[in-house]
Amino acid sequence: MTAQATTERDLAVVIGLEVHVQLETRSKVFCGCSTDLDETEPNTHTCPTCLGLPGALPVLNEAAVESAVKLGKAIDATIPEETRFHRKNYYYPDLPKNFQITQYDAPLCQDGSIEIGVEGKRREIGIERAHLEEDPGSLQHEGGNIATADSTLINYNRAGIPLMEIVTEPDFRSPKETRAFLAKLEEVLEYLGIFDSTRDGSLRVDANISLVPGEDIGEDGSISTEVLVAANRTEVKNISSHKGAEKALAYEVTRQKNAVRRGREIEQETRHWDESKGITLSMRSKEEEKDYRYFPEADLPVLRVSDWKDEIAIPELPGARRERFRTQYGLGEEAASKLTSTKQVADFYEDLASDFDADLAATWVADDLLGELNYRDMLIGDIEGRLNEVRRLVELVASEAITAKNAREVVLREMLDSGADPDTVVEDKGLGKTDDEAVVVAVEDAIEENPDAVSDVEGGDDGAINFLVGQVMGKTGGSADPGQVNQLLRERLG
Ligand code: ADP
Ligand code: ZN
Ligand code: MG
Repeated sequence: MTAQATTERDLAVVIGLEVHVQLETRSKVFCGCSTDLDETEPNTHTCPTCLGLPGALPVLNEAAVESAVKLGKAIDATIPEETRFHRKNYYYPDLPKNFQITQYDAPLCQDGSIEIGVEGKRREIGIERAHLEEDPGSLQHEGGNIATADSTLINYNRAGIPLMEIVTEPDFRSPKETRAFLAKLEEVLEYLGIFDSTRDGSLRVDANISLVPGEDIGEDGSISTEVLVAANRTEVKNISSHKGAEKALAYEVTRQKNAVRRGREIEQETRHWDESKGITLSMRSKEEEKDYRYFPEADLPVLRVSDWKDEIAIPELPGARRERFRTQYGLGEEAASKLTSTKQVADFYEDLASDFDADLAATWVADDLLGELNYRDMLIGDIEGRLNEVRRLVELVASEAITAKNAREVVLREMLDSGADPDTVVEDKGLGKTDDEAVVVAVEDAIEENPDAVSDVEGGDDGAINFLVGQVMGKTGGSADPGQVNQLLRERLG
């Protein structure tokens, strides 16, 4: 039975993603041009190789291969001993050679997987392959979009930036799952230190989607190859964010279901996601593999990663780190999850937890700092150079020089809003506890923490008061006056 003959209600959603991510290397993948494109004039980071001039030859960037191997290890992929490059031929102005150097029958990473959690359910998404290739240049459509612009400008600065194309199995059963997957993928890439999510266009997604009869899905959720091939699918291009993927696919699910309801056949085609309008538009009939006339790239030798791949180490990944945070620091699920949301947050937390109380550090980073940053639409990366100031603020709280409430509600906010350092804010606003206050607080703490000694004193055991004095002296670092402490304790305990 085909999808079209089934009623809309029996249809299940099937989605597979092709994700392009830029790898963070200093130079391009086949030439020495710099990849640092911040505020550069168009077409200034180019050379004969990335412009495809006659006679120019590619030289493979070792760092790009290393990053690709790291990704392969992180997703549990098979990394073959030997891989090679192919030419994918097509004419398009963003690719001056008229072919893209990519991988075809022997990609660097094969058969991996990434686990996602959606609404409390864990699902494993298969990764069919991940291969290394070069990014084309970028096009700028003047005064309109791809269909309506009068003219188009080309910038070859991006041409030759290393890309990984990650192709998933058609394992997604809802648009929401794709969003969770992309978030997880990005997290892993950032942990590996091979990706910068803040860079414009660093993640681009093509999404394949079809509807299949619910009855064709096995009890374990599997779908046979015949069913997958028989289903007419659309490929949605131009998706550049997690949210965009979910929105574009939700739109496409509705559109395809409506077509089925009206008895129309789903066209096998490539569609364009228009982010501003929130719709997908038909672009062209879907191209097939044979259209690209793949053939081996003769200018690059076979790449042997056999021994080398064992020497490439990867850092602890977010999932493992989350678990370790729970056991090592005794954190709850939510705190551990927030504190490992990015590598930078996790590193900063561990830095604090090694010097201060782990719970205090957790509250400070997960709730106070991330909360205030989030409120200002900022990320921890935005205050990268000021983490020592945040650290100083935590120190002021830990040493009870200021109250936690003042630290959070006055000092931290002022620091983020005005750029002032914590000591200046404390001084300007007169927030430092006076010495007397600190002694009073220490007396209260000592009473609260030592109920046995307190009842001994109350029962007339005068020796027990010396024990409490000692406790207060310890808390104030020996700076209090023992006579005064003795006096205060007697007053407090009647
Ligand atoms: P092609 O290269 O011909 O487009 P591939 O087999 O390489 O096809 O698959 C490309 C992408 O399409 C993969 O991400 C795959 O998971 C996905 N895909 C394959 N079959 C389906 C389907 N029936 N519905 C949705 N996505 C699919
Ligand atoms: Zn170049
Ligand atoms: Mg393909």
